[in-house]
Amino acid sequence: MELFDLPPQQGQRLEAETHHGVFGGLPARLSAALHTPEIGDLVLQLLDRGWRQGQLAARIGALPSGADPIADIRALLEGFLEQVPPDARWREEKRERAQLKASAAIEQPATEESRQAWLARIRDDLGVRRSAPREPARRTRPACALCGQESSYFVTREVRLCDGCVEQLTTGALQLPNVG
Ligand SMILES: [Zn+2]
Repeated sequence: MELFDLPPQQGQRLEAETHHGVFGGLPARLSAALHTPEIGDLVLQLLDRGWRQGQLAARIGALPSGADPIADIRALLEGFLEQVPPDARWREEKRERAQLKASAAIEQPATEESRQAWLARIRDDLGVRRSAPREPARRTRPACALCGQESSYFVTREVRLCDGCVEQLTTGALQLPNVG
């Protein structure tokens, strides 16, 4: 939002041309009633902020007619003071769109980069997995059912034990796994 620190121009009725540009679409009596310093102030502040006469005129013209049109128009104009003028809002949105586009363009190579990183990682994993089975292949006897080391004792077809575990079984420090 742009802030303007211009001193408020007080007590200025709009020049006839400006007044007509903003209020010319209204009934003549209402337009004349709006030609006051108070309304002129509001309009000048809005024009200073970047509103254009036509933008104000279009919005004033779109107001539904109420019991107190002057109060309605004053409230409408005062409300515009809180808003970013349409042109500035449009520029802001345009800048945001451009930023989004730019950041999307920056992300594109990063995405490709991370894709390559993933591929490299997957290739590494495959390499590890491919070489992994060679190690257990060196084992001559099945693994001990309790500790996984090379077994030297046959218990059942599924269960083998190593020297160390058999030792501990005999001392009662270990229990045989429940074999079904
Ligand atoms: Zn063992």
